[in-house]
Amino acid sequence: MKKDFIFNEISQLKGVGPQLSKYLKKKKIEKIKDIILNLPYSKTDRSKISKINELEIGKIHSIKVKAIKLNFPRIRNLPNKIICEDETGKIDIVYFNSREGYLRKLFPINEWIIISGKVNYFNKKYQITNPEYVTKLENQEYVIKNIPKYNLTKGINEKKYRSISEQVINNIPIINDWLDDNFIKKNNLINWNECITNLHNSKDAENTQSNSYRRLAFDELCANFLTLSHNRKKIKKNKSPKKFNDHQAKNIIKNLPFELTNSQKDVLAEINLDLLSQNRMFRIIQGDVGSGKTIVSLLAIINVITSGYQCALMSPTEILARQHYALAKKIFNSINLQIEFLTGKTEYKKRKEILANLSSGKTKLLIGTHALFQKKINFKKLGLVVIDEQHKFGVKQRSDLAKKGGDNCDVLLMSATPIPRTMMMSLYGDMDISKITEKPAKRKKIITLSKPEKKIDELWPFIKKQIEIDNQVFWVCPLIEESKFLDYSSAKKKYELINTKFKNKVGLIHGALKKEEKENILKKFLDKKTLILVSTTVIEVGIDFPNANLIIIENANKFGLAQLHQLRGRVGRGAKQSTCILLFKDGLSKNAIKRIKILKESDDGFFIAEEDLKLRGFGDLIGFQQSGIKNFRFADPVHHEDLFKLAENFVRNIGEEINQNKYYFLLKLFDKAEIINIDKI
Ligand code: ADP
Ligand code: MG
Repeated sequence: MKKDFIFNEISQLKGVGPQLSKYLKKKKIEKIKDIILNLPYSKTDRSKISKINELEIGKIHSIKVKAIKLNFPRIRNLPNKIICEDETGKIDIVYFNSREGYLRKLFPINEWIIISGKVNYFNKKYQITNPEYVTKLENQEYVIKNIPKYNLTKGINEKKYRSISEQVINNIPIINDWLDDNFIKKNNLINWNECITNLHNSKDAENTQSNSYRRLAFDELCANFLTLSHNRKKIKKNKSPKKFNDHQAKNIIKNLPFELTNSQKDVLAEINLDLLSQNRMFRIIQGDVGSGKTIVSLLAIINVITSGYQCALMSPTEILARQHYALAKKIFNSINLQIEFLTGKTEYKKRKEILANLSSGKTKLLIGTHALFQKKINFKKLGLVVIDEQHKFGVKQRSDLAKKGGDNCDVLLMSATPIPRTMMMSLYGDMDISKITEKPAKRKKIITLSKPEKKIDELWPFIKKQIEIDNQVFWVCPLIEESKFLDYSSAKKKYELINTKFKNKVGLIHGALKKEEKENILKKFLDKKTLILVSTTVIEVGIDFPNANLIIIENANKFGLAQLHQLRGRVGRGAKQSTCILLFKDGLSKNAIKRIKILKESDDGFFIAEEDLKLRGFGDLIGFQQSGIKNFRFADPVHHEDLFKLAENFVRNIGEEINQNKYYFLLKLFDKAEIINIDKI
């Protein structure tokens, strides 16, 4: 068998017609290899032959019996019935919708046969309805065993699926393993062919720590990391290096009202090296909310402008873009620099003027929303694109973005979502990573308190006092479930309650609003027209509300650690003391108690992200969901932490030049070949 047969469509298998293909497609089984990757979730034990007087109702049994009477009622809707017996008793085998001829052949009178199926009790008799297996004695080995159980959809029964999957699993050609024996042994893995056989024919698929399961998880990681590494190579092509001396930047730093943290200095140095190098920069700054990423990016921008290029700075929302614009104006105030602001709302005349100044090169820095990336916008000499709060982009968008800037354009992303170490490679394997690990020194630590919800009345005087000393308040409403409407209705109720206590001082914001409406409401809050903002979890990360110093989070046990930390980070950006109050319903789970404890003790986003991963596991991590990268199917950063590291090193050692022959099979197995653009053999 050619080894490529597994990449063929399933319709090429015996017994798979158009109808069955359609059903299998619903289970995302389209190619033969998808059958290999569709692991059994358990086994059905049909391995023992039971006597009729030993049967247990509701369980699956295999029995050895003789048919003694076949009964085909001529009345519609009555089932066909075959009465069978062994030396200990009788049982009815019942069929709905089966043809007489077929059953007569299956149940020859007075011959021993094997039947396997789920036993019921009806009219004081044992019965099996539509048994999965009925077979002659000489074929009993096919049935009397542990049979893998697969998740199946309507329209495919176990027996049918088994015949298809056995066709595949029993005929997999021996492949040239891309891992060598020593590596396999040393890391408790297993050779690929054995791995697949075991996963389907033993209990290995049920145990994420079995060598076979680990091998498949490792392969999945490698396929992903290889792809990222390949993308990276494509992006980091040669460019003409930027040429600058950093006296402008130094001047700006001198005039800042604060001292840069060491972390900020280190990251800036890393960026400068990239700018000066011959390879395009594709770097992400990771730093907790409030760690001071913006100023670092502005300093990079001034260096690029000094070397004769233009820059673009993009934010996900207009308010955020406006804040950046205001900051840039202020910081570059002493330099004669044309800075423009562009959003989708910029009016036609102004827009035309901006576009003209961009293509003539007069404008050096353009700040705005994603409107910056419209086709019509042409820079004369774009040298750097900075994108804030990048976690809204996936890998594909990132590489599109890198293309758009042109060959000499460096790319810098900024994210406030700390990612646990284990997942760094999966999320950002195509990029270089800079971390800001320090917070500006003078900032006061946010006081974090927890309170049972029934004591909510104790909050009103506290809020009143905050307002009197000119503070503003966020009130984040219960996340009830993944339903915008329910979350909205609970926010609305809370808004009405709070509004009776603080008339005309309260705003309401939620996810069902249009983007523009949301921005209006946030602006009102920013301008202190409202003092308390009731919201669902939509409040954007990144916006500076220097005056908001109290955040109340209701139903806090519904949120993960990292998300609570993110929410909390929306206060504490000014000089005053801030407070975060977590409201809980009674009867906290152990996990919830742990979460509160961690939050009270730590304000280090990286530490919290690690703890969050431990407490909640994979799919729940907020940065991950927003990253646009799908969950792994087999690998799990909690259970396979070592494999994440191993795969990372493995791919690093391969380098960026992937031997496409060697890894072709692997990449194709995990649908990566097209992304990498190889298709051969
Ligand atoms: P983020 O990393 O969340 O984007 P910002 O860049 O918005 O953080 O910075 C948050 C606040 O901290 C801003 O008001 C900024 O002026 C201030 N800031 C930045 N760096 C420092 C520093 N080294 N010392 C004190 N304040 C700083
Ligand atoms: Mg920011």
